[in-house]
Amino acid sequence: MKVHEYQARELLSQFGIPVPPGIVAENPADAARAFEELQSRYRAKLAVVKAQVHAGGRGKGGGVKLVKSADEARRVAYVMLSKPLVTPQTGPKGVQVTKVLVAAGVDIAKEYYLGMAVDRATGYPTMIASSEGGVDIEHVAATQPQAIIREPVSPVTGLLPFQARKVAYRMGFRGQQVRAAGKIMHQLSDLFLKTDASLAEINPLVVTKPTEENPDGLVIAIDAKVNFDDNALGRQNEVSAMGDPLEEDPAELRAKRFGLSFIKLDGNIGCLVNGAGLAMATMDLIKLHGGMPANFLDVGGSASEEAVTEAFRIVLDDPKVKGVLVNIFGGIMKCDTIAAAIIGAAREVGFKVPLVVRLEGTNVEQARRMLEKARKDIKALQIATDLTDAAVKITSAVKGRGTKRAGKTSSRGKTIASSRSVRRPAAKSRSTGRSKKRLTAGKR
Ligand code: GDP
Ligand code: MN
Repeated sequence: MKVHEYQARELLSQFGIPVPPGIVAENPADAARAFEELQSRYRAKLAVVKAQVHAGGRGKGGGVKLVKSADEARRVAYVMLSKPLVTPQTGPKGVQVTKVLVAAGVDIAKEYYLGMAVDRATGYPTMIASSEGGVDIEHVAATQPQAIIREPVSPVTGLLPFQARKVAYRMGFRGQQVRAAGKIMHQLSDLFLKTDASLAEINPLVVTKPTEENPDGLVIAIDAKVNFDDNALGRQNEVSAMGDPLEEDPAELRAKRFGLSFIKLDGNIGCLVNGAGLAMATMDLIKLHGGMPANFLDVGGSASEEAVTEAFRIVLDDPKVKGVLVNIFGGIMKCDTIAAAIIGAAREVGFKVPLVVRLEGTNVEQARRMLEKARKDIKALQIATDLTDAAVKITSAVKGRGTKRAGKTSSRGKTIASSRSVRRPAAKSRSTGRSKKRLTAGKR
């Protein structure tokens, strides 16, 4: 789950990390008032108006603007709130901005990067740091990997003081800054572990220009991004409450209400599968036979007919879907339940695109008979004998239905392989048999 920057800043503050004060505004007049308040309460001479969207790279897309007066804050907020914000991370259509954060501006001497994430190679929570922070950190990571510092953090002890000092020195902090930065590192690792975050990032962490009061400058966070592990939301009520339904994919939200795991992808073959592992295998086979999945959809092991019908509605609502592949192993869920749902969905929503069904498991004979009988009404329906047969049938059925081969990235610019929720089940099941079993059990 993602949260907005203003929420991430609040969390940082709760854990003691210094963050400049800020006020959220939903219209230009409030943005102007926010500027005045920062001016009177904190003697801010400068403020920064920041679009609150669940995407980074805002600085590059005009979503972060320094302003020097209330009137300027009003004008900048007006522009940000009136059109979608396009950044390198939003895709060309951009995202609508409904809130801006007006934060006290900071005189920056230098920008650093500080983050926490789980290192997939080592399996450890890891602190990631760099003296080359700011808007080009992705470029730095790609071109100068040696400029990125990684320090594993024990989930039991958190970041230890000697580790914080080591990282602070390597980042180039000196004098008073070492203590200040070390403290922030400690607080960030604490936040990461205690809130079940999957990513906690301060970019940039800055040192302010020296003043008489603070000759070494102050070390403070001026941007924050925190993502959370969805599987932990059940024990993170405060975090859970920060979710913004306006930022979520409506189809994914709909699926969640019916207990379905649904992730939209960029291809044109809708998939309806039970079990995360089987869903991964199904997507792999579709790709192997030259197709591209339009989604990852795990209806779970014991979905009701109603949930399965909703799953069909969600998949068929996507205009990009040119065919649907159903692959169900009837264990707890009976094949005849699926067959009934397919027939029900066909009656209700209609299949205007080819539908290939592969069923195996409990009550499969009964299910096949039901589907055979329904075939005279559901012209789109083909029954497959096994998964390969199903993948071949659906990829050849969608071929030539007037869509280009879908690209490699999903709707939100992440590659399919890097999409966390998609990759995790497969990665785990490959590593150990035990975690595979546990995962499957959890899903059901
Ligand atoms: P992002 O582009 O979405 O990551 O947004 P950031 O909040 O990181 O802002 C992008 C850049 O704007 C930062 O790297 C800074 O260079 C600049 N910026 C943001 N806030 C301030 C500020 O208070 N003062 C100054 N001088 N620059 C700022
Ligand atoms: Mn940033």
